[in-house]
Amino acid sequence: MRVLVVEDDKRLSAQLKEALEKAGYAVDQAFDGEEGHFLGDTEPYDAIVLDLGLPIKDGVSVLREWRKAGRATPVLILTARDAWSEKVAGFDAGADDYLAKPFHLEELLARLRALIRRSAGQATSSLDCGELSFDTRSGTCTIAGKDVPLTAHEVRILAYLLHHKGRIVSRTELTEHVYAQDFDRDSNTIEVFIGRLRKKIGEGFIHTHRGQGYRMADPDAGARSFNSESLK
Ligand code: CA
Repeated sequence: MRVLVVEDDKRLSAQLKEALEKAGYAVDQAFDGEEGHFLGDTEPYDAIVLDLGLPIKDGVSVLREWRKAGRATPVLILTARDAWSEKVAGFDAGADDYLAKPFHLEELLARLRALIRRSAGQATSSLDCGELSFDTRSGTCTIAGKDVPLTAHEVRILAYLLHHKGRIVSRTELTEHVYAQDFDRDSNTIEVFIGRLRKKIGEGFIHTHRGQGYRMADPDAGARSFNSESLK
């Protein structure tokens, strides 16, 4: 999962980046409205944290332009405390949620998780696939209740595939959602991470579709539907 933070307060931006990375996200930063607009317009983020008071171009204008161009990325706006008119303008421009400054990082993380889940059509904070269960709050994975220790990159890949369970995700798409912009991306490393993930969670969960990408699926569901087919 990859997140863009558009915030001109350098200190706050650094705090957000640190907290988000610790929570398992790849993070890009923009420090004014123009740069933020450009990144949100050209890069496929899973969510965007957008401050409203920004240099060059204000947050509401940025958001309005994204929505006008059909960008549906979930956006959480940051507003000045008690600025209700800002909040209203933000929602009218297409914000999905807001937080008033100052806020607790934990609340921001919880709201972001909920936004990303909702946009992927997932109702609960635990993403399941057969015996595999991934807790989006703690970033931990269990199989049949047993902990499976994963690295940060493995968590990002697994979380993305689980949020898009049942759909084929191309290697390019996966690359774009697990690395920050300044990271030296090499789509071959995705294959390496997938290989390591399979070793840890078992071979059956991540299916390779030659030339297309990867698909997360319950290994037992296939067997079940095969059995019911063969009974006909
Ligand atoms: Ca600001």
